[in-house]
Formats: sequence, structure tokens, C-alpha cells
Amino acid sequence: MKKDSAGHGQGCLCSLGRKDAAGGAIQSWAVTSKRSFDTKKTNGGGACGAGHKLLEIYRLLEKHFGATGWWPGDSPFEISVGAILTQNTNWSNVEKALARIKAQGALSPQALYEMPEAELAELIRPAGYFRVKARRLRAFLRLVMEDLGGDFDGLLRLPAKRLRELLLRVHGIGPETADDIVLYAAGRPVFVVDAYTRRILGRHGLLRAAAPYEEIRSFLEGALPRRTKLFKEFHALIVYAGKHYCRKVPRCAVCPLGTIKPIVVDGGNGDIQSAGGRIESPHFP
Ligand code: SF4
Repeated sequence: MKKDSAGHGQGCLCSLGRKDAAGGAIQSWAVTSKRSFDTKKTNGGGACGAGHKLLEIYRLLEKHFGATGWWPGDSPFEISVGAILTQNTNWSNVEKALARIKAQGALSPQALYEMPEAELAELIRPAGYFRVKARRLRAFLRLVMEDLGGDFDGLLRLPAKRLRELLLRVHGIGPETADDIVLYAAGRPVFVVDAYTRRILGRHGLLRAAAPYEEIRSFLEGALPRRTKLFKEFHALIVYAGKHYCRKVPRCAVCPLGTIKPIVVDGGNGDIQSAGGRIESPHFP
């Protein structure tokens, strides 16, 4: 790829300013990173400035928190159930619900599908909103058992786009939960955008926190090397940083990202609620 004197390739987002290929999610970005990253590993056409800063954020968080290993689960099905149960609750509550399902020997599409909804709700009670989540879980199980003849592995083998489409049709599964399943259960490189992603990357001037989900997802997937492991770890690290440091009142002085100064820490776009970032799944410890 032909590069200019700053090392940016043709089509680099750095040169595009406020309105760009991602439809305006990206604010103009001056490359301030002193660290040198291997841009050969980034996607072609547009990874330079934003990609550098995102990778710097990733490496600072990884250095601070270490490898997270998310998502925990003995099987893709367990991960999928966990992704639905973790909406609006802490992971520790999900673990309790999963333990109860396992204790009954019911952690399979068939067993959960055959369970009456009231019984399923009672089983997952520790996860909170248990009646709502039982309904959502059953909608997901109907997709697997009725539409796909019980072939859960086949569901995960579908092309990522088709898998996403099917998941998004399920009652109660929004883009974040769908992408949790696509990334962590199916192992496909989609970037999960949650409220902490909006808050942290918005505060660091990389995106407009209130931008639509798909706009942010496509920006991140275009700016980063498209690798499943990176996307898994990056999402988890962002959640860790959000929970520990980047709260409504940010703790920049002690945050591992404090060395790369935030641009906006108030004025609305760093606020999860005002940014339009409904907390679909504030999971992870
Ligand atoms: S706490 Fe401050 S330095 Fe840390 S991620 Fe948030 S805005 Fe950035």
C-alpha cells in the first residue's frame, strides 16, 4: 500500500476528518502515539491513526489487566445461554443461574426447550428479570429447535452475517447480545459494542458515543486487525476498564489509560445513559 510521509496508507481514516467512511462516528484524529505499531497487521484502507490509538489502548489495558480469557464456559451453548442471561445483571448472578441449570443436567438445547417456561424461569431466578429472560431464552431455543431442527452447531457454522441476522430476529436479542454469541460462541471476528466502549472510546475522542451501534461496530472492525482473539480480549478489557476506572465520574489519575489523555470526560458524550448506550449486558466482573 502506498504511504505518505507519516506512514499512512491511501484511504487512511486520519486524513478523512469528521465525516468519513464510518458515516461520522469518527472524530478527526491527530496521531499522537509515540509507540510504533505494525500497521501491516491492520486491515487495509483506513486503519492508521485510529488503528494506532486503538491498539495502544488495547496494549495498555492488556498490560494492566493481563489476559482475561473471556468468555468463560465449557461449550458454545453455555456461552450463548450466558450471553442472554447476563443482560442487565452481574456475571456472578449468571454463574449461579448456569450452575442451577447444570445441576439439573439441563444445559442442552433439547432439555431447556422441553422445560415449561415457568420452570425455566424459576431455574434461572438468580440471573434477575428471570421471567423476561426465560421468555428470551425460549425464543432463542425455538430458533434452534424449531427452525434448525436442533442443529445448534449448524447455527454457529453459518456465515457470520447470516448468523447475526437470525439472532437479531429472536425476541429480546439485541445487537450486543447477538455479537456476544457471534464472537464468543461462534468465534467470528465481530466487535461487541457496549456502553463502556462508547464511554471510553468517546472520552478518548475516537468516536461519537451516541453514534448508532452499527456505525461504531463497522468503524472498529475496519480500524483494527480483524482477529477473533483480539476482538474477544479487547471487548473484555474495555469492560474491565469501564468497571474499574471509567465510571460516570472517571478515575483518570489512576487509570491505565490516563497516560493517553482523554479528550472529553463530560458534556454528555461520556455519559452512558445520555450517549444512548442502553446497558444491554454489563457483564464481567
Ligand atoms: S478513566 Fe479517564 S483515562 Fe481512564 S478510560 Fe476513562 S477517560 Fe480514559
